[in-house]
Amino acid sequence: MKGPAGMARWIKETFHPDWQPAIRADKVLHEVKTSHQHMVIFENKFWGKVLILDGVFQLTTKDEFVYHEMMAHVPLTALERPRKVLIIGGGDGGVLREVLKHPSVESATLVEIDQEVIDTSVKYYPEIGKRAFKDKRTNVVIADGLKFVAETAEKYDAIIVDSSEPIGPSAVLHAKPFFADCRNALRPGGIIVTQTGLPFHAPQHLKSTTKSLSSLFKAVSPFVCTHPCYFGGEFCINWASDQPEHLRLPLATIERRAKRRGLKTRYWTPALHNASFALPAYIQAIVDKAKPKSKTKSAGKTKAKPATSRQM
Ligand code: SAM
Repeated sequence: MKGPAGMARWIKETFHPDWQPAIRADKVLHEVKTSHQHMVIFENKFWGKVLILDGVFQLTTKDEFVYHEMMAHVPLTALERPRKVLIIGGGDGGVLREVLKHPSVESATLVEIDQEVIDTSVKYYPEIGKRAFKDKRTNVVIADGLKFVAETAEKYDAIIVDSSEPIGPSAVLHAKPFFADCRNALRPGGIIVTQTGLPFHAPQHLKSTTKSLSSLFKAVSPFVCTHPCYFGGEFCINWASDQPEHLRLPLATIERRAKRRGLKTRYWTPALHNASFALPAYIQAIVDKAKPKSKTKSAGKTKAKPATSRQM
């Protein structure tokens, strides 16, 4: 795709005040201002198809498996039999695809504010979510996630908040009122995970969500992954539950569950599952500052309990 004077067009991420990572657009497939956000979908020889919303890279078909697998398998393998799952955002269908890999899941409700994200995902990168959207366990709701969790009477085993950055329509999905309503929509012992950005560049994002979640849940413990197109170091996903035992499950238990569920993955592994909660010191420092002292000690040091027969 040639820009002015035959120059290649580079699509920049405009979220960070001090730097703008860019990817060359070999072909722009779709560019529109939807009723909620600015969207560009383009093709690049190396990254494949790329989605950018309001100046923030959301996904590429080259590396989407990293984030989508961690967002789904870390909470769901920590649960013995997850049956009802709620996904907020996630209109590309990647998290939904991974959630439906768990045979015990009977219903997966996806609440996306922007129909255009779903339609363009099915059109331009069907390999990500097309089949998942067609699955009979899938229930798609076009709505604001904030309103949905405030009004739902359903109780979920896990809530996965696959939102964009805390800007535009997504800003409300990173604040305490939303997390408080999510807590009410969780069954006892349920787990919530929420994308918390790049702590190296945006420590405030991790600090504020950890503070909010720690004021609502017994256990809060972010985990990290390395997602290539989220330029800038470890990507953090926050994790909360009133059942700290879910953290630090014996490796053998996670291995057994993954095997029994026939999970096929390219990034998530049972060993990586536990390892991803071991945070680099600078990230742990952000988390410890955000948590009330009492929770810092207890949640962090939950020792793995020897496997009981029920966990097998
Ligand atoms: N992985 C990406 C990231 O971390 O930046 C997120 C991907 S996903 C495409 C984000 C989705 O959240 C978008 O489809 C966006 O439309 C949706 N979204 C934003 N605000 C929302 C809201 N208030 N309620 C429901 N969905 C929302």
